[in-house]
Amino acid sequence: MNYYFLFFQDQLLLTADGTLPQGCEPPVALQSGQRLQPLPPLPEAACFAAQLAAPPTQGEWQMVALRSCFELLPAPLYQLAGKARELLHWDETTRFCGHCGAPMQLHTDISKRCTQCGREVWPALSAAIIVAITRNHGEEILLVQSKSFKRDYMGLVAGFVETGESLEACVEREVWEETRLHIRNLRYFASQPWPYPNVLMMGFTAEYDGGTLQLQRSELNKGGWFSRHNLPAIPGRVSLARKLIDHWLQQPESTPAP
Ligand SMILES: [Zn+2]
Repeated sequence: MNYYFLFFQDQLLLTADGTLPQGCEPPVALQSGQRLQPLPPLPEAACFAAQLAAPPTQGEWQMVALRSCFELLPAPLYQLAGKARELLHWDETTRFCGHCGAPMQLHTDISKRCTQCGREVWPALSAAIIVAITRNHGEEILLVQSKSFKRDYMGLVAGFVETGESLEACVEREVWEETRLHIRNLRYFASQPWPYPNVLMMGFTAEYDGGTLQLQRSELNKGGWFSRHNLPAIPGRVSLARKLIDHWLQQPESTPAP
């Protein structure tokens, strides 16, 4: 039995009751000659991915946005669905050589080689940072609302790593650009693939070290310092932002100095 990760754009094909299709053959017809992308196998099944030309019109299927699959699929399957989406996106965007323009040919499951000049390409990641900044001995956290958020909630300062930049320098630059604040005690927290598409998010914690909050209006709608007792809506559990905020919420409250 195989698992099939079949996407139409960023939506994954699931059964009507929200599980991943399994079987010996793909559950819906693929285009003739279409290749199935092999994925790392799970202990219980081999895994394959493919892009659908259109959502199925027959059968008891539903198309679910990859982000929402976090709530439906077991963690290993959600992780693999993200990898599947990234590989399919890579396949779509590397049909021709970026150097000479000739068609690219699959070389291994995760690499291609140019049919003309021999150039090789692998799936590439964009690195991004996200940082939870606290002040007053951890009593307050800085939350901001990016213009890119699709719902009305508050998250953390985040941004893409630029070429030639260390992670530490990136965090300091993003914090300065978005808030005009300085930070200290920068510490690595955790990382997470963010397949929307091809991003590796790296999470940090830091403490406020001076400056007056001044939001970058081109990037942010609003922002401010919040305590445990006046938290606004925060990001969903799928995100590293939420894991950072939950980690802060789990810290014991400091007792006020006498
Ligand atoms: Zn080439």
